[in-house]
Amino acid sequence: MSTRPSALASADSCAASSSAACEPLPVLGSDVLVPLVTGGEVTYAALDYAASAPALRRVWDDIAAYAPYYGSVHRGAGYLSQLSTDLFENSRKDVAAFLGCRADDQVVFTRSTTDSLNLLAAVAPRGTQVFVFETEHHASLLPWRQRADIAVHYLSAPRSPRQAVETLETALAGRAAEGPALVCVTGASNVTGELWPVRELAAAAHAHGARIVLDAAQLAPHHPVDIAAADVDWVAFSGHKLYAPFGAGVLAGRADWLREAQPYLAGGGASRKVARRDDGGIDVEWHTTAARHEAGSPNVIGVYAIASACKALTEAGFEGLVARERQLIAKVRAGLAEVPEVRVLSLFGDDAPRVGVLSFVVEGWNSSHFAAALSAEYGIGVRDGLFCAHPLVRTLLDSEPDEPGECGAPEAAPGERALNAIRVSFGAGTPDEHVERFVRAVRELVRDGARWSYRTEDGRCVPDRG
Ligand code: PLP
Repeated sequence: MSTRPSALASADSCAASSSAACEPLPVLGSDVLVPLVTGGEVTYAALDYAASAPALRRVWDDIAAYAPYYGSVHRGAGYLSQLSTDLFENSRKDVAAFLGCRADDQVVFTRSTTDSLNLLAAVAPRGTQVFVFETEHHASLLPWRQRADIAVHYLSAPRSPRQAVETLETALAGRAAEGPALVCVTGASNVTGELWPVRELAAAAHAHGARIVLDAAQLAPHHPVDIAAADVDWVAFSGHKLYAPFGAGVLAGRADWLREAQPYLAGGGASRKVARRDDGGIDVEWHTTAARHEAGSPNVIGVYAIASACKALTEAGFEGLVARERQLIAKVRAGLAEVPEVRVLSLFGDDAPRVGVLSFVVEGWNSSHFAAALSAEYGIGVRDGLFCAHPLVRTLLDSEPDEPGECGAPEAAPGERALNAIRVSFGAGTPDEHVERFVRAVRELVRDGARWSYRTEDGRCVPDRG
């Protein structure tokens, strides 16, 4: 059995690809100047794509072109309402094409990945058993617990893709009760950036009569996602991580659970017919299409933005995007490897294929302090903390929950364990200069220390301005 991550594109060098994507794609904010605490200004280096990526210029242009024609969706008789309804429903088709959906799949628009997975948790049949690795983002770990009739089986952290498949197979084989089962797995970790063996996990799930949902929040912005080829039952992702930060998300996949469950939200749009009964009550007939779970006025701008991003990425070509991102990853990893005080966090080891997301700790540094200095002294935006994946980061740091120390005092003196990590993440809009500045900044901070003093304010490390 191959455990090569199935979603991996094949290009190895940017130059070898025929795509124009060897250059960063234009994004908003690339020329924004931010002040340095040490004086002067510098262009902001957005290296927190895993949290939220900047909007693609193309997405912004599409939204701006549509904005004057904005109108109510599904409701109005007017020209702009019809145009907006067409735009909304065509966006559904564009997203289905982007994900390689099967003919009878549904594409439901939500607010985010968190919302999508909560929707799936709400529509899962009674008594569904859910299998989820403890290494998942909280959005994948937690929604199932909202249902008293769902048993959640947390699987221990695997140390290789192969072990992930074996762990899942063992858990599914040992399943006590009959009945529906669902596996929830990420495509790419939001902590380590490592790719998970999605196709193999899907095969294992199906071999044991379970279904599988792919959390593609971190995968979709970096790699093609093909729901049919990967043979997953559902895919969830967020617009704001896919260069379309306008408040929409997607749950796409099998229609049956969606069609048979009660609507996620009850209200207009989800109901096909609402009629008075003779006894004074009300009868409701719900839609059986995606509209069943989209009650209320839809976020047409957010949805159109996602469709626009899907088209922009497809047209740019994932082959070139993947190849270019690999070069950035190699640059960051090589730079960090030259600083012995830096430890990059990994579940699957150095050779694991990954997207542009890396977490690390620096010996002798409080992570919040380090991230604050990157921002204040170099204009670099990264993230510090546990990244809404507390069990995974705890495993990788081998530390137990505790309050991090004051930022002035290193929490992780030599030989001690860090309590938080630093995450750097990038993607299609990242110029080489951003990762080069980051690598230089890490080297200088570790060698020379911070040039400014910092203090803790409301739990965050901030420059001390006296
Ligand atoms: N899944 C993964 C892997 C994530 O990284 C995130 C967000 O960081 C989520 C789910 C939740 O996404 P959202 O906050 O857009 O709901």
